[in-house]
Amino acid sequence: MPYRDADVALAELAQGFARFRAAYFETNRTLYDELVWEGQSPRVMVVGCSDSRADPQMITDAGPGEIFTIRNVAALVPPYMPDSQLAGTSSALEFGVKGLGVAHIVVLGHAMCGGVRSLMEYGDADPRFEFISRWVAQLRPARDEVTRLVSEADAATRTRLAERLAVLVSLSNLMTYPWIAERVTGGQLSLHAWFFDFVWGVLLQAAGPHGPFEQIEPGTPPVAAISTRMA
Ligand SMILES: [Zn+2]
Repeated sequence: MPYRDADVALAELAQGFARFRAAYFETNRTLYDELVWEGQSPRVMVVGCSDSRADPQMITDAGPGEIFTIRNVAALVPPYMPDSQLAGTSSALEFGVKGLGVAHIVVLGHAMCGGVRSLMEYGDADPRFEFISRWVAQLRPARDEVTRLVSEADAATRTRLAERLAVLVSLSNLMTYPWIAERVTGGQLSLHAWFFDFVWGVLLQAAGPHGPFEQIEPGTPPVAAISTRMA
């Protein structure tokens, strides 16, 4: 794993900001002025993983104001739980849908996901962490499906399949939020499951709520019909 001294890493980020400011911010002042005075109005919300290798904005080459991003361990959408406390992911979903009126929600999973790996290797009790097991246990349906489909496969193969199925679990959980289901049924909102495989450098999308995942070819509009088939 690449290692950098922490202070050097931070200094590099500060230098990166200087480059961004000179090469991007200063040359796009009109855009930033609009974002200041008119506010943000992204059409797409992405639920991605916190993993440093799977930045939704970077891999889609999106500009400022284009995507409203939620990132957490394993790009996970918990089921609708109105009584749960401190619901960070659900709060962001709510703001994206009700506050910003996004037209699309993309759940973006990725290869080599540590959250999914924890679930597959340790189940509900990963001894290394305090919070993660309970969080990723929400993806049990993906693990159960892997067991049903490929119980004889080696651990790596099972985890690779679980990474894709986990995206479909989160996609399905989106529909448990009444204000999402209502907009999907009404045609104002559509839901998508994407998967970034950085082993091969490809972006995949689910052709339906149960898959299969197919490569998104450049120039081809992504599937937008999952929502109607799921509802
Ligand atoms: Zn991940």
